[in-house]
Amino acid sequence: MLKKLILLSLLLITLQAENSEVPVFTAQEQAWLDESPTLRFSEVDWRPLTFISDDDEFSGMIADYMRLITDRSGLAFELVPSVQWSEALDKYDADEIDLLPAISDLDKMDRPFLMTDSYVSFPFVIVADKGVTFISETSELNGSRVAVGKGYTSQHFLQQHYPEITLVEVNDVDAGLKILERGKVDFFVGHLATVIYALEHNGHSSLKIAGKTEFSFKHRIGIDPQFPHAVTVINKVFKSISDKEHNSISEGWITTYRAESDYSLLWGLGLPLLIIFSFFAYRHNALHRYNMMLKKISEVDKLTQMYTRLKIDNLLDEEHYKSNRYKAPLSVILFDIDDFKSVNDMHGHQVGDQVLQEFAKITDQTIRKSDSAGRWGGEEFLVISPHTNKDEAYILAEHLREAIEAHSFLHNQQITASFGVATYIEGEEITTLIGRVDKALYAAKRNGKNIIIS
Ligand code: GH3
Ligand code: MG
Ligand code: MG
Repeated sequence: MLKKLILLSLLLITLQAENSEVPVFTAQEQAWLDESPTLRFSEVDWRPLTFISDDDEFSGMIADYMRLITDRSGLAFELVPSVQWSEALDKYDADEIDLLPAISDLDKMDRPFLMTDSYVSFPFVIVADKGVTFISETSELNGSRVAVGKGYTSQHFLQQHYPEITLVEVNDVDAGLKILERGKVDFFVGHLATVIYALEHNGHSSLKIAGKTEFSFKHRIGIDPQFPHAVTVINKVFKSISDKEHNSISEGWITTYRAESDYSLLWGLGLPLLIIFSFFAYRHNALHRYNMMLKKISEVDKLTQMYTRLKIDNLLDEEHYKSNRYKAPLSVILFDIDDFKSVNDMHGHQVGDQVLQEFAKITDQTIRKSDSAGRWGGEEFLVISPHTNKDEAYILAEHLREAIEAHSFLHNQQITASFGVATYIEGEEITTLIGRVDKALYAAKRNGKNIIIS
């Protein structure tokens, strides 16, 4: 009986951790909340954490947290936008705002602040040229030139802990990535979420996240000391947020990027996704569970359940090696949905997503067991066919093309795809092979679509 009771209470504890709780406020806190205070805050464009959306709404991951605070406590916020971070600080000094929603312990703040608990945390990561191998220690950067945002947290901690690094100040993440691309610096160090965003949106295709530092940006809200109740109220709301809710806020922002613009770059970012979720691990001791989740996220595309670009990249390396070693043929097929934009435009993104899922199914049912298929970009798929020569690969591509053409998609739509096929030439780099298959696909598009070029 006792055992049962213990089990039951353990179960209840677990359930509580999974679900959000209702924050309970003291009489003083409630009395303060009943006065309907509105706290003014300032932020800059700091995507995907904070930005003003096209319909003039304060948006981003941090905006979601602030909305949760308002929903659960009634505490209201009012945005006073700033262009530069230094402006936001000046506004705080001039008493034009009451709080800054995302500051870190690592920041050197000369101002008086009451800090809330940390509500989300991201590591600072090292960005390098794609040719650089994995960087496991920040000290590997000693002696190099590293770009950092001027006045950013990354500048503070590198200055303090790594005097042997030559720091090069830039205005923002994008400027840092640009000079890195031009070879003016060796690395860029920045906040993971903002780095992912810049890599996805600004086309720095020669760069990658090569490692992570031992430092993290633990986001806290910094509040004017004249509002002590705000701190305790907000901390209670933070405690009430379940892991699931934390999870869905950040996942929401990752998928929102996809809906916004260029999808194709996102899928190359398996590693950052892997790191992005590791911040959950600082809560409780669920490291193992999260590690399993991370592996899955990095290898399996959430929408289509196909392999991710990261996984496909690894498989390509593996097959490249085997093909060289055993002198076995190797082919790749790259295909892209024709006029997919119009499917989205006509029926909406959700239908577009369903079409992608059906595409994945058809591909899965058509390829052979020894082949691997993955989502190469937004609506672009890559099949790796080991032990397959050019003619055989063409036949496989034709099966795929026919299966897609014959399939009746939602709303009885006929949808087609164009195909490029390339076969490995002994001694060539994998990037050359991919370059060739990409060209073939491009030629198929130019020559009328729904065809195969090999
Ligand atoms: P083309 O025949 O030349 O390939 O024309 P297209 O319209 O298919 O090509 P384009 O590359 O111009 O547009 C691709 C579109 O695919 C843009 C984007 O809206 C859509 N897309 C990419 N990923 C996703 C996704 O995950 N879901 C949905 N619904 N749409 C996506
Ligand atoms: Mg297309
Ligand atoms: Mg495309």
